[in-house]
Formats: sequence, structure tokens, C-alpha cells
Amino acid sequence: METDTFDVSVSAEEKEEMPKIWNFSAGPGMLPRPVLEAVQREFLDYRGLGASIVEMSHRTHAVEAIVESLTDGLRGLLAIPEDFEIFFTQGGGRTQFAMVPANLLRGKTGAYLVTGLWSAAALEEARRIGRAEAVVRTEGDVPDATECDWPDAAYVYYCDNETVHGIEFSAPPMAPEGVPLVADMSSNFLTRPIDWSRHGVVWAAAQKNFTPAGLTVVIARRDLLGGLLAHMPSMFDWALYAREKSMPNTPPVFQLYIADLVAKWVRSEGGVEELPRRALERSSLLYEALDARPDLYVTNVARRARSRVNVPFALRNPDDLADFIAAGEREGFRQFTGHASVGGLRVSLYNAMPLEGPRRFAEFLRAWRP
Ligand SMILES: *Cc1c(COP(=O)(O)O)cnc(C)c1O
Repeated sequence: METDTFDVSVSAEEKEEMPKIWNFSAGPGMLPRPVLEAVQREFLDYRGLGASIVEMSHRTHAVEAIVESLTDGLRGLLAIPEDFEIFFTQGGGRTQFAMVPANLLRGKTGAYLVTGLWSAAALEEARRIGRAEAVVRTEGDVPDATECDWPDAAYVYYCDNETVHGIEFSAPPMAPEGVPLVADMSSNFLTRPIDWSRHGVVWAAAQKNFTPAGLTVVIARRDLLGGLLAHMPSMFDWALYAREKSMPNTPPVFQLYIADLVAKWVRSEGGVEELPRRALERSSLLYEALDARPDLYVTNVARRARSRVNVPFALRNPDDLADFIAAGEREGFRQFTGHASVGGLRVSLYNAMPLEGPRRFAEFLRAWRP
């Protein structure tokens, strides 16, 4: 395949070049620099075609080859079994909150594990479509499997990493025998392997860790497709996307193209075997620095549920917030304030973040005095 010859691994010079600022944005998040450089290089003339990729019809070989390469790349990276379909939709995470119940409810109840803002929002949206309940609600922690009592569940839904609250499951939660488990992995997609024997559907809005906003990846077991509720729009039908190879209408070609480059970059960096090690290393640097000064910093998440990609914290004295942010910005740190709904601070550490970023932030945490 032509796209396979394209190398996005990091050159020695690029590795040495450190960014001038440290971008800790929670989303849209940082993308790998070699990927952005490749996009820049190819933007005006896509691989000798004489036009930009964003000017190409999605019915051309070039675009079909991107979707095929991306699909094959993800299947390889995440060891996705053949009985799972991989396809791409638009409308972001919030549209998927509706597509999940629209495709899976079939007259039963959606069972939700509510662990933070995103799973709560998914539940609210599902209630617009049909019957859905929180079977468990936790704050600052993930639930114990035994806490859950299951109604007549069509599926069990959870958010693998709560981006706002910094709460991450360390292993998939339990679902009753025969009930598919559905995971929102928007913010920790491609940061570790996925246990397919435990999941029916995994999806991710891509703009946290994967590609610019406008693309959602859905990986669904084939036997779960085809159950769209009758009164739903046809563009909600997962089966349509699987059948039409993600092109029931004009797809977001630019996002698919960058996603393909990111998937290749992930592979060149050692794949989902190497990336979890780095994610743990990055986040541990921050948690250690925060834990060392409980007189200055507050963290509210149980240790077992601490996210490896979003590290939220607060200052013991909230009156110091503006000073803290100004001091951080002088060090070159950007976009490290907390989500509007919780306030405080949040440092996001996606795959593209070099270890040096959290290392410097940890130093800053140790040195800072009100
Ligand atoms: C950002 C995010 C969403 C929402 O994505 P949008 O594309 O903005 O609708 C959903 N779930 C998680 C875990 C997220 O981080």
C-alpha cells in the first residue's frame, strides 16, 4: 500500500528539538510533532497528486487507501479481532452518546456506571432515546464490581477515562453474562491494549489523543450491528458505516489522514506495549510531586483510579490560583487550568507529550511557594 512507505518515525534532530511551550491541553490535545511536520510537508501536494488531500474526492484511490490503511493500522495496533468492525463517524463524542442507545437499546434498558462528567452526560443523552439508568454512581473513584445491581440491561456503559475528573479504570468493569460492555475511550485511546473479550463496543472521539476534532472511531462486535431503533435518523446507524466503509456521506478526510499518520507514529514508537509505560511514567512524576506537598496541593481521586492522562488538582488555598497560573505560564506551561465545571488545575499528558514536559511541571510544583 502506498501509504505504508511513509515514515513518520522521529528523526534524531526532531527528538532533540524541544518545544518552546508545554501544551497541557485536555482537548483538542497535543499531536506528535513528526506528524504535524509531515502534514505541513505534504499539504500543498499530496504525494505527487498535484492537489492537497483536503481537495480530493473521497471516492479517489488516495482517500480510500487512507481509510484502509488506518483501519488495518488500528486492527494491528490494538489486536482487534476479525469479528469486530472498525468505522468512523462524525458529530463528536456527544453524538455517540445518542448513537450508542439508538443502536443497542432494542426495548431494554441502558445500564450506566456514572463516574464523572462524561458518563453522566452519556446517561442524560441516552434518556432522550429510551430507558437508561445509573446502576452505580461514584465520586473520585471507580466502582467495585460487586456494588452493581443490574436491571434488564441492553448494555453496560462506562467511561474508561473521565477527562474532566481524572478518573480512569485500571481494568474493564464487570457486565452480566451476555450483556455487551460499551466503553467511551475518548481520552485514553491508544494508551494501552484493550481486552476485546470483555467489550462489545469501544468508541473514542478522536480530538483528545488521536487526530483533530471531527472524527469518532467506533469498534463494534459485528453481531451488535443492525439494531437501530426505527424512529432514528439513518445517519445514526452503525451498520451503515460498517457497510459503506465509513463513507455513507462525505467523510472528514483531513482527520482520517492525520489519524492514519498518528497510528503509524504510535507503531513507530513501540505501540500500545510501550505507550502505557510512558503514560505511567509521565503521570507518576506529577502525582509524586503533588503528594509530597499536601500543605500546598489537593488531589481528590482515589489512588487506584488516578488517570494516567489527565491529572486534576487544586491549590490548598484557592486564592493563590491566579498567581500559580501566572508563575506556570512564565515557565512556558500552557492550558493547565481545570475544566469550567470543577475549576482548579488540570495537566493533560497525552501520547505526544515528551517526558520532559511533566518532569518540568513536577519541578515547578516542588519549587512553587505561595
Ligand atoms: C471530550 C470527551 C467527550 C465529548 O467529546 P465531544 O466530541 O466534544 O462531544 C466525551 N467523552 C470523553 C471521555 C471526552 O473526553
